[in-house]
Amino acid sequence: MDRRIRETTGARELPGEPANRRFHLVQAAPVARNIGAEARGLITSGEGTYVVDENGRQLIDGPAGMWCINVGHRNEILANVMRDQAMALTYSTPWYTSNEPAETLAEMLSARAPGDLRHVFFTTGGSSAVETAIRLMQFYNNVRGKPQKKLLISRQGSYHGSTHLTASLNGRPRDHDWMDGVDLVRKLSSPSVFHGAQGLSVEAFEDHLVDEFRRLIEQEGADRIGAFIAEPIQASGGVLVSPANYLKRMHALCRQNDILYISDEVVTAFGRLGHIFASEDVFGIQPDMITFAKGVTSGYFPLGGVMVSARIFDELRKSDHPNATFVHGLTYSSHPIGCAVAIRNIELLEDGLLEHAREVSPYFQHRLKTLEDLPLVGEVRGMGLMAGVECVADPSAKNPLNLDLAVGKRIDFHCQQKGLLVRPLINMCVMSPPLIITRTQIDTMVAVLREGIASTANDLI
Ligand code: PLP
Repeated sequence: MDRRIRETTGARELPGEPANRRFHLVQAAPVARNIGAEARGLITSGEGTYVVDENGRQLIDGPAGMWCINVGHRNEILANVMRDQAMALTYSTPWYTSNEPAETLAEMLSARAPGDLRHVFFTTGGSSAVETAIRLMQFYNNVRGKPQKKLLISRQGSYHGSTHLTASLNGRPRDHDWMDGVDLVRKLSSPSVFHGAQGLSVEAFEDHLVDEFRRLIEQEGADRIGAFIAEPIQASGGVLVSPANYLKRMHALCRQNDILYISDEVVTAFGRLGHIFASEDVFGIQPDMITFAKGVTSGYFPLGGVMVSARIFDELRKSDHPNATFVHGLTYSSHPIGCAVAIRNIELLEDGLLEHAREVSPYFQHRLKTLEDLPLVGEVRGMGLMAGVECVADPSAKNPLNLDLAVGKRIDFHCQQKGLLVRPLINMCVMSPPLIITRTQIDTMVAVLREGIASTANDLI
């Protein structure tokens, strides 16, 4: 097949974006404003499942912002909570005071988290949550007299953040092009059946993945490995779902080898899989720490955190070393406005939204799956209200497309013309709409996506 890209004129960015343009700066801006933002249309407002762009075009918010606007846009209840809290108490330092919303939220999370995850440290988002979890592991092992036990195990296909340490854990294609990481990380294979199984049955692939971890532990030594970190579903890697018992078996290996298991639920918690936390309710594991962010406030306020097990916390408290102080703090930890929003957000989730998400998810997955008949689509996969559509050169052979074709962005470009915002991921696109999405809106979303993928296929001929 001729893979030349037809030049398209007039489009602000796509199709025909230069293949080597990997560092995204706002185009044609008089000054370099907002580094990292791409030259997209401006979004000016939002309501429910929709956003409106600068041209007045209404778009279904396919990715719910970045997997986060769980209750939908322009929720008046949350807006009022923010205003009321700002008028009552805008801020209190987390160093030597606390505030009521933070205390209440801590209680609520502790009551909902699995196992003995009773303690929480609030952060400002997902990266700072993962960073905090790692620093807790380091401190924990220092206190226990195991200062050499610090290696971090992550996986190809994962995304854990954009600070130096968390980005070092990331494992998606191109994550490390032109960027430096830290030498504390070892990576296992992605558990993606589509990419990794290569002729093996799903069960055999699962065995292979678990064996790989076992071998790595033998090779590095359990006494040098501090933590294993895993998203229950690799979200930004393309919604990569692992074989059925993989997470349980990885968790068991961690327990056997005194390796802390950090479940990164920045995407999967707060309703995306129909539960407040998915680790236990969906995957049957009780991790040592759970990191969360995004959906905890439905994206209305930057807040994240780490749930920490009582087992770890009690160990830390036992230390009688005079210098054993966990020196770690963020100015906006436990922010009263963020915590107040999170409390009300959780109430809204529990007042029917989780149930709605669970009810509508099978329809969402089923309708998206119908796109697999398109020649460009290799696989549609997902769980709950998150799904990935992966494009390939040849679906029967699962041949990957040249990454520079940026097919995801092309699909997004075409879909936006027809009223749908898509989250592009190299040659994939991801759908994770607000949890309030209706069946009719799902139908529209899938119909537009079908047209967008077909138009993209035309671009590539
Ligand atoms: N962990 C996961 C699983 C994520 O998906 C993300 C962001 O998408 C992060 C961590 C980082 O969160 P933040 O962007 O809030 O720093």
